[in-house]
Amino acid sequence: MYRSWWLLGAIHLLVSVVTAMLPQSPIQCDGTGGCNLFNSYGVWNDRKNCHVPNVTYPRTENELLRAVAYANQNKLKLRVVSQFSHTIPKLACPATSTGNSLLISTSSYDSGIEIDAANLAVTVDGGVGLRKLIDTVEAAGLSLVAAPYWEGVSIGGLISTGSHGSSWWGKGGSVHDHIVGLSLIVPAKQSEGYAKILRLEPKDQLFNAAKVSMGLLGVISKVKLLLEKGFKRSVSYDFTDDDQIENKYMDHGKKYEFADITWYPSKHTAAYRYDNRVPLNISGDGVYDFLGFQANPILVSKSVRASEKVMDNGHNLSGKCILASSFLGYKKLVANGLKNGLIFTGYPVIGNQGKMQTSGSCLYSTGKDSSCAWDPRINGLFFYETTAIFPAPKFRDFILDVKKLRDLVKPENFCGVDIYNGFLIRFIKASEAYLGQPEESVVVDFNYYRADDASTPRFDQDVWEEVEQLAFFKHGAKPHWAKNRNMAFLNVQSKYSKFTKFVGVKRQLDPQNMFSSEWSDEIVFGKEGAKSDGCGLEGMCICSEDRHCSPGKGYFCKPGVVYEEARVCRYSPSSNVESDSPKTDL
Ligand SMILES: Cc1cc2nc3c(=O)[nH]c(=O)nc-3n(C[C@H](O)[C@H](O)[C@H](O)COP(=O)(O)OP(=O)(O)OC[C@H]3O[C@@H](n4cnc5c(N)ncnc54)[C@H](O)[C@@H]3O)c2cc1C
Repeated sequence: MYRSWWLLGAIHLLVSVVTAMLPQSPIQCDGTGGCNLFNSYGVWNDRKNCHVPNVTYPRTENELLRAVAYANQNKLKLRVVSQFSHTIPKLACPATSTGNSLLISTSSYDSGIEIDAANLAVTVDGGVGLRKLIDTVEAAGLSLVAAPYWEGVSIGGLISTGSHGSSWWGKGGSVHDHIVGLSLIVPAKQSEGYAKILRLEPKDQLFNAAKVSMGLLGVISKVKLLLEKGFKRSVSYDFTDDDQIENKYMDHGKKYEFADITWYPSKHTAAYRYDNRVPLNISGDGVYDFLGFQANPILVSKSVRASEKVMDNGHNLSGKCILASSFLGYKKLVANGLKNGLIFTGYPVIGNQGKMQTSGSCLYSTGKDSSCAWDPRINGLFFYETTAIFPAPKFRDFILDVKKLRDLVKPENFCGVDIYNGFLIRFIKASEAYLGQPEESVVVDFNYYRADDASTPRFDQDVWEEVEQLAFFKHGAKPHWAKNRNMAFLNVQSKYSKFTKFVGVKRQLDPQNMFSSEWSDEIVFGKEGAKSDGCGLEGMCICSEDRHCSPGKGYFCKPGVVYEEARVCRYSPSSNVESDSPKTDL
């Protein structure tokens, strides 16, 4: 069973010592006027380009201020994007049909990092990358406690979308809950020079609106974050069966400061991460170089994608399951990318907080033979990413429903998610941010195959659509602002009790809606657009008629198996078949 993986592993070792390819800029200009903005996967949810007539690259806070003033004076729509643009929904796109818009890139606004060691704080420019910030504070003997697991993000971008790692301890896993100051550049009256800087602190009324604000209130120029004295972490994984996971996750989250769980439903396996801080004088120079974020030989990424495509088109579930088993076996062998030094030699792996909290080594290799596995230039991995956030106790019912669905449709139907990273379960604390989580929460992420074009249905798509609808509608989960297909945002505003307060602040700071676009409205206001043929295939709508699926290719709009109110696009060999029966492997 593992033979194919060992082959891939061997190729990986051989080729990964050659050369690699840095991620491309999300802004691509063709020299004939204007540019296109992409996310890091190279394709937006609606697969339509985001054309921007003008892009500016300020280097200082003063230049940022001038850019906002210019846009305000000239009545331009304005959005901000970071160096790599890792947000999946089209939030950063300023495009309008009239072309009156400006994009600010913070890629050159990335130098200011001022450490205040006496007060355990750091003030950082909005465009600074997470890795640069972490390395700087660690060099000063300090640590940032919370960070998303992926380091290729900017501070302004990650704060804006509520990005998080995992922790129910202290101030918790969301980075915005560690902020004690934030500077926001907002539009102003002509007499004030068309733009002004607000220096916000926790005592200010606007602070809780500004923390998680998707760039809708203004440009974040500086962020002040709390730090702690430097520390290390000691991490082990326990790959075990998923029995009772629904009764274990709460205790696990409480017991370990940086706990998480990866659940592989098709394999009935859960990997519990035991992760606590230890003092700096404990020996260990480990790193967490998460496997999924390591540079992959382009050849490997292409061949995994090609196999997945052939299997999906051929309805070959057993092939997907072999791939999932191989990947899971390899992850166990290499401890998901934990390394005691150069390689993994045994648990626990102990290392500095800065080396354990986040990773992304595929960002730094140079050359052309390897890259991040999803690099849009290589025809490598291409997938959807669903991330749902539950009030902690409610997550139990979701797990039970997913288990029920798995057992009714067949566990093999869940192999598609286990080819990626299963269900990653993380913990975040209650937040004061208006668009943050109002209570202790559990976040679940899962990735799954996306077809090359919008009109190609996916064999197991009904399963993922039902899981999505279970999460967002039956169990009332909130979507992570930076991930998800558009359907996850339907009626999102009704899930936040302080949404109206946020809108009030938005009206106050940006009365002309300069920082809003039809794309950001679609996400933040959860508006459902007109339902077109095939819109259910890519999560642009929930199907209500067969034409929203792909009846010509045998996919019809059907009720869910466990959640009857769900409506999903399901494969039925003939339109006459009552096709609610579990799928079979061909
Ligand atoms: C591989 C991968 C792994 C990820 N892992 C995690 C994870 O572990 N945890 C998690 O929570 N998330 C995760 N994410 C999501 C990621 O953290 C968010 O998408 C984050 O917002 C990306 O930051 P960015 O700097 O790329 O921002 P962008 O994508 O460039 O922008 C995000 C939003 O913020 C706005 N914005 C950006 N900069 C500013 C600014 N200076 N002022 C005002 N508005 C601004 C933009 O307009 C946009 O609306 C992951 C994403 C990827 C692709």
